[in-house]
Amino acid sequence: MLETPLSGPESIDARVRRLGGAFGNSYGLLPPQFATRVDPTAVAQPRLIKFNRALAAELLLDVEGLDDAALAAVFSGNRVLPGTQPIAMAYAGHQFGQFVPQLGDGRALLLGDVRDRFGKRRDIQLKGAGRTPYSRSGDGRAVLGPVLREYLVSEAMHALGISATRALAAVATGEAVFREGRVPGAILTRVAASHVRVGTFQYFAARGDVEATRRLADFAIERHHPEAGTAANPYLELLRFVVRRQARLIAGWMNVGFIHGVMNTDNMAISGETIDFGPCAFMDAYDPATVFSSIDHRGRYAYVNQPAAAQWNLARFAETVLPLIDTSSEHAIALATEAISEFPAEFDAYRLDGMRRKLGLFTEEEGDAALGRGLLDVMHENRADFTRTFRALCAAAEGDAGDTALYESLTGQAAVRDWLAAWRSRLSREPQPASEHAAFMRLVNPVFIPRNHRIEQAIVAAERDDFAPFEELSLVLSRPYEAQPDFAAYANPPQPDERVLQTFCGT
Ligand code: AMP
Ligand code: MG
Repeated sequence: MLETPLSGPESIDARVRRLGGAFGNSYGLLPPQFATRVDPTAVAQPRLIKFNRALAAELLLDVEGLDDAALAAVFSGNRVLPGTQPIAMAYAGHQFGQFVPQLGDGRALLLGDVRDRFGKRRDIQLKGAGRTPYSRSGDGRAVLGPVLREYLVSEAMHALGISATRALAAVATGEAVFREGRVPGAILTRVAASHVRVGTFQYFAARGDVEATRRLADFAIERHHPEAGTAANPYLELLRFVVRRQARLIAGWMNVGFIHGVMNTDNMAISGETIDFGPCAFMDAYDPATVFSSIDHRGRYAYVNQPAAAQWNLARFAETVLPLIDTSSEHAIALATEAISEFPAEFDAYRLDGMRRKLGLFTEEEGDAALGRGLLDVMHENRADFTRTFRALCAAAEGDAGDTALYESLTGQAAVRDWLAAWRSRLSREPQPASEHAAFMRLVNPVFIPRNHRIEQAIVAAERDDFAPFEELSLVLSRPYEAQPDFAAYANPPQPDERVLQTFCGT
């Protein structure tokens, strides 16, 4: 008699079906004006560039037994996961101060959401998956270079401990995209706590649709801050939450020298995650006026302006929820204004907390903020490398013998000596021994950041089909606080001929 096998090797089809079965569709269940149902447009030759297995595990995605070809088919959108209903989300936004009532996902498609290892719902979205009703004159596609940049920088941001959307996959499409010329196309799979932006609220508020705004606010509360649901004024509590999260986020950026580049309201996530890594970059030499974005001519989103830009965006967000906060608009405005006015103090507190850690201070003293500013001033005068200076300070915490590296960054001898004396005298009032300060500082002052010239080198190589530099950079950046002597060169600032002065949206 023939034995019927109870479990043979599962077919790829069956595995893909099971993967699709893990997806929910919470945003797609909102009223029709929230999003449009759109399938991805298939691409010629999807080829897997990178798949983030650690993140897949965190998302409890069962991708075992799916080979590169199957993953490339799924994460290019060529194979729509059975059971998913991809949608393009509607949103509006202030772009460089100008309100645009309709933007929306012009090239991104939300596949749905999954419940991760921590029980949290996370959105999974394809970026560059083809045209949607929100594409306007765009082609719905993404370019290899910016896809690799977003992969590297968003993952590096996460490894640095700063809230950011994540990169699950990068797939080359095998198709050319036309920008300034012919460039290779690619698709990024982005993971976010949600893709609700300040601009999503603005979309409904601008249409006077209070009910839709309320539905969106309820969605945001449920997804990001369920505790607000039971607060006396849930929508005011949501606003306060968004203010706090942005204060923490921008302080995190400032403490690693990150410049977002396009802080338009459509690029500010309600979750407090860093989103939309367009012309962003980390500073090498410290200069608070640094701007990288080729489209930011007036420096609206320069490094030093980021807290003010965030607060401006938060005020735009607050305006959208006024009718939900109180039926009396006067009272609603008073409450919202108070919530927004908390931002500077909250930002300063997060920033100072971060600076204390960078300086190795466990305790708090009045003069700490001035001490931090003093170092930044010396760094600015010296055009010192932001990341290397702070890392050099870790060795200096162990005693004068560790100052050598610091003096390589900072050459204004007298000013540096004065600052070091002030810092040492401050450290001497800490209860812990010097070695503890140094060890602690090495956990918060990274060795490796995604330096722009390294990203450019990885992109240029990838355009010639050599992904080794991308892989190596990605590996180094996954452990930014570890010395990794074999990769020491990645800690170096660019040589004059390697310097990248502008980054392009390149979208
Ligand atoms: P971004 O600059 O990526 O934040 O995008 C701003 C707006 O332009 C969003 O509505 C995008 O969906 C849209 N967009 C950007 N690039 C494209 C493209 N290639 N095709 C269609 N829409 C796009
Ligand atoms: Mg955007």
